[in-house]
Amino acid sequence: TANPATAFPWLASYPAGVDWGMPIPALPLTRLIDDAVARHADRNCLNFLGKIYSYRKVGELVDKAARGFQAAGVTKGTRVGLFLPNTPYSVICFFGILKAGGVVVNFNPLYADRELVHQITDSGVSLMVTLDLKLLHDKMARMLTQTPLKRLVICKMAEILPFPKNWLFPIAKRAEIAAIPKDDQHLPFATLIDNDGRPAPVSVDAVEDVAVLQYTGGTTGVPKGAMLTHANLYANVVQCAVWYQARVCRPTDTGGPDKLLGVLPLFHVFAMTTVMNFGLHTGAEIVLLPRFDLDQVMETLAKERITLFPAVPTIYTAINHHKRLSEFDLSSIRFCMSGGAPLPLEVKEAFERTTGCTLVEGYGLSESSPVATVNPAVLHPTKKGSIGLPLPGTVIEIVSLDEPRRVLPPGEKGEVCIRGPQVMKGYWNKPKETAETLVDGRLHTGDVGVMDADGFTTIVDRIKDMILCSGFNVYPRNVEEAIYLHPAVAECVVAGVPDEYRGQTVKAYVRVDDGHSLTADELIAFLQDKLSPIEMPKLVEFRSELPKTMIGKLSRKALLDEEERKRAQG
Ligand code: AMP
Repeated sequence: TANPATAFPWLASYPAGVDWGMPIPALPLTRLIDDAVARHADRNCLNFLGKIYSYRKVGELVDKAARGFQAAGVTKGTRVGLFLPNTPYSVICFFGILKAGGVVVNFNPLYADRELVHQITDSGVSLMVTLDLKLLHDKMARMLTQTPLKRLVICKMAEILPFPKNWLFPIAKRAEIAAIPKDDQHLPFATLIDNDGRPAPVSVDAVEDVAVLQYTGGTTGVPKGAMLTHANLYANVVQCAVWYQARVCRPTDTGGPDKLLGVLPLFHVFAMTTVMNFGLHTGAEIVLLPRFDLDQVMETLAKERITLFPAVPTIYTAINHHKRLSEFDLSSIRFCMSGGAPLPLEVKEAFERTTGCTLVEGYGLSESSPVATVNPAVLHPTKKGSIGLPLPGTVIEIVSLDEPRRVLPPGEKGEVCIRGPQVMKGYWNKPKETAETLVDGRLHTGDVGVMDADGFTTIVDRIKDMILCSGFNVYPRNVEEAIYLHPAVAECVVAGVPDEYRGQTVKAYVRVDDGHSLTADELIAFLQDKLSPIEMPKLVEFRSELPKTMIGKLSRKALLDEEERKRAQG
């Protein structure tokens, strides 16, 4: 199956159809911001806790930042780190670095020292942008002595949010401002942008030149930098926009600018593309929140009349279960895209019922910039539980797990592989891992999936999460879907824990919804007709809280690490 339009003719005849074989432009990502500023100069671009920046203003600041980065020594290919929660500085510095010719390296502000040392050393970042919050600055002060990092650009919170009261609160409950030394190692953002805003032009080969090093665990091992080129990132936003216009916008839409809620962290690939790049490309107002606080999300959705809300499944779950849900008017939300982790059907349906919006599931990974597939939304029925169809210009192949690797026909389970203009160039300085992951231009995702005869893919699980129980493969996701059907269950994770007799055994970690009660026996009885004996959890543990990753995915890894520690302690 090359291009879905030939394989599935109904796609081509689709009224507001996408040209599935359309050429995707290979352009420098800086064109995205330049075009957006030229087209939408007077529109609101960023809205940070009520402080508004127009597209024109953002464009001016990006140019000044670019000039400043060049003055600070950034030339073509220089890696510059961003160590920021969501603030306007994140967007301004991201594009400032690119315009200066540099490569953006995204850092998670919650990283521990050990992770920071690894990522700074591996990427060779010598300049890092951060805030003057003690929480962030103190970590970077340590990095100045422990790593090749040489200099910090310090963005002052008070300069963008001169509100006297509780403006720090949303970022961290006890955030304090750091005392910033006045020395060469600390360059204030205000000094960085004190220039004529005319960076020296840099010539970019969109296909070859890396725009972002996006660190990810990938399918195995230590974090590696996925090299996302300018063309990769530009392609993905165009692919998403084409899909969005053809699949979601109804003819009755008046065309007013969308308001997009950016609560997912922009340093994660999902928000980088679907919030920042997509928002700018479509001329939306991007309402940024610095961290996830459920009440603040609910208030912002209602008060700002948000129309687009990309998020991860745990956020939709949290909203569905909010105690005062009916007090918030969420009727402005038109469309939501869930990604990053499987979206349980129950969660999708409950969210659509309460808000009246369309919530579709997409799929992708850091290595594919990230979006590879999305469900058709309003104009064509979505297939339940599926991650949808490949974006324009993208081909999904299901490849056998055993040798010789071959492309499987519809209905058979195998590794999901992606081809398309959004697929990374490779891993930074990791030729071996690159060769294992990119084979003949095909990205091996490490996810197991199955495609149906209409080209819709369903993710079964990750290869590495598969549970091998008495010689049988158990897919945790299958078991989780069954557990979610129980009305008392708010969240659950299923994992394989070591077992003397079976090799691994199926364990369920469950968070019961407030006001409900559930015992292990009741749950097992409920699952009797839904799971095979081999899939049935042998262990059930109830928890008041389940661990999550920084972007809010439920973390199977954290639970397995706990098991490991418990075992080590006997
Ligand atoms: P990351 O590179 O950190 O964004 O993680 C990518 C991984 O998240 C993928 O390889 C999948 O295992 C998982 N993932 C992303 N979207 C989905 C989805 N819609 N359903 C199931 N798993 C997903």
